[in-house]
Amino acid sequence: MALPLAVDYEALHGNVCDSGTFNVKFVQKYDLVLNALDNLTARRRMNRLCLAASVPLIEAGTTGYLGQANVISKGEVACYECQTVETPKVYPICTIRATPSRPVHTIVWAKEFYKLLFGVKAEESMLFEDTSSLDGEVSTYMDTVRSVRVALHDDKSKQTEAGFADLITKLVEELYTDEIVKQLELDRYKAAAKTPVPLVKEKHTKTAVAKDAPTIQESYQATDTACWKDQKLCVAELKHVLENVDDSFPESFDKDHDGAMRFVAAASNLRNIVFSIEPIQSIYSAKGIAGNIIPAIATTNAIAAGLQMMQVYQVLSSIKASKDSGEGGKIAENCRYCNILRNPTRNGLAITAVSLEKPNPNCFVCRQGSVHFACDTTVWTLEHFLKRILTQELGFQEPNMLLDDTQVWEQGEGSDQATYEVNLTKFLANLPGGGIHNGTIVHVEDFTQDLELSIHVSHEANWPKKEGDEASTRTEEFPFVLKGGSAAAAASASSNGEKKPAGTSSSS
Ligand SMILES: [Zn+2]
Repeated sequence: MALPLAVDYEALHGNVCDSGTFNVKFVQKYDLVLNALDNLTARRRMNRLCLAASVPLIEAGTTGYLGQANVISKGEVACYECQTVETPKVYPICTIRATPSRPVHTIVWAKEFYKLLFGVKAEESMLFEDTSSLDGEVSTYMDTVRSVRVALHDDKSKQTEAGFADLITKLVEELYTDEIVKQLELDRYKAAAKTPVPLVKEKHTKTAVAKDAPTIQESYQATDTACWKDQKLCVAELKHVLENVDDSFPESFDKDHDGAMRFVAAASNLRNIVFSIEPIQSIYSAKGIAGNIIPAIATTNAIAAGLQMMQVYQVLSSIKASKDSGEGGKIAENCRYCNILRNPTRNGLAITAVSLEKPNPNCFVCRQGSVHFACDTTVWTLEHFLKRILTQELGFQEPNMLLDDTQVWEQGEGSDQATYEVNLTKFLANLPGGGIHNGTIVHVEDFTQDLELSIHVSHEANWPKKEGDEASTRTEEFPFVLKGGSAAAAASASSNGEKKPAGTSSSS
C-alpha cells in the first residue's frame, strides 16, 4: 500500500507541555499529529494545540488489555475533552487519618508519611501537625519527624550514627503506638470498623533490627505477604530503608523507586496490622495500588499503535479527498473510533470500529462553550481559584482573567504578572472590576492554547456537610461545584470536624 501523500519526519526530544517549543505555531507545520502519551495533562495539551492549529490528531490509549485509537478534527468530530475525563480518586482526610478500612487507605497514609519525611515541605503532608496551632494538644510525633528530616536531608552522616536507629524506633513508636493511644483516648476512632490495636513497644519496635528487613533476605519475593504480617519485620524494613537513604530517594513518592516502595509497603502494612485491615499487601500488589496502575501490556500498546497507523492512511486520504473535492467533513466520513477488546464480540471481533462522535455542542474546549462554577466567593482567594479550578480542573496553563473589562490576572511570556500579584490573596468578591459575585461572568483566556472561556459564577454560602451528600468522597477545604461543557466536578467538605492542614488532598 502506498501513502497517498509524501511523508517527512524529524525527531525532537522535549516535553509537549513546554509552550516555548511546542505551541500552536509548531503544530501548524505538520499535516497530522499522533499521540503516544501517558497522562491527562499532556493529552489535554495536545488536544487543544491541534484544535487551535486545525491539525488532525490521532489519539490512542490502552488500559491493560483494553485500548482505543480515534481521530480528532476540529469542528467535525468530538475532541478529547468533549466528554468528561475521569480524574484520580481522592479520599477524605478523616478516612486516611482516623478511620482507614481498606489497604488503599493505609497506602495513601504511607505515601503521606513518605511526604512528611522526604517532601520538600513537610507541611504539605496530610500528617503534618502545626505544633504552634494545636490548641494545647501536643503532637506525638512532629518533634521526631523534624529530627529525622534533619538526618535525611541536611546531615546524612547522622544516618549512620548509632543514635539514628533509636530515632527511627522512636518515630515508629510515636506513630504506631503513642498516636493511636492518644486518638483512642480522644474517642477519635469511634467510626472505625475495628478498634485499632497499638504496637507493643518493646516487643515490636526496639528489638527490630535493620538486618532482618524482609526485602534483603535471600528467599524474599516481591509477591510475599507473610513477612508483612509480622510487626517486627515491618519495623525492621523501615529501619533498613531509612538507614540507607541516599540521593536517589525522590522528594515525592515514586512507585518505581525501590527504597520508596519498600518504605510505603512496610509503613502501610504496619498500619494495616494496627487497624486489622486485610489483606496484607505484598510489595507487588502495594505498588499496583500506590501507582493506581493497571499494568501496561506491550501487545495492547502495539495493537493501538498499529490502529493509529491505519488511521494515518485514512486521515491523509481524507485530507487529499477534501483538497480534491473542495469539501470538508471527510475525516468524519472516513475515520473510525477503534476499540481494542479483551473478549471478542458475538461476531468474533477483537477490534470494533464505529463512527466518530460529533462534537459536544457544550464543550468549552472545541466549541467555545461556557462552564458554571459555584463557590463561596467570600472565602475563595484568586490564588486558590487559579490553582484549583483554572489549572487543575480546566487545564489552563497561562490564564489571563478579566472581569468586565478589568484585567485581574495575567501570566506567561511578556505578561505583567507582577502588577497582578497583589490580587492573589484577595477574595473573589473583593477583586477589582467589581469583584466576583452571584451571576458574575468571568472571562478567561490562554494564548498558549488559543483557548477562551466564560465562567458563570454562582455565589453559594451554604454547603452540604452530611456524609453521603453529593460527591462527599472528595476532600476539599473550600467546596465548589463545576458544571457544564465537558468539565464537571463537585466537591464538598468532609463531614468530620477534625483539624486538618490547609489545602491538602490525596490521591491514590
Ligand atoms: Zn470538545
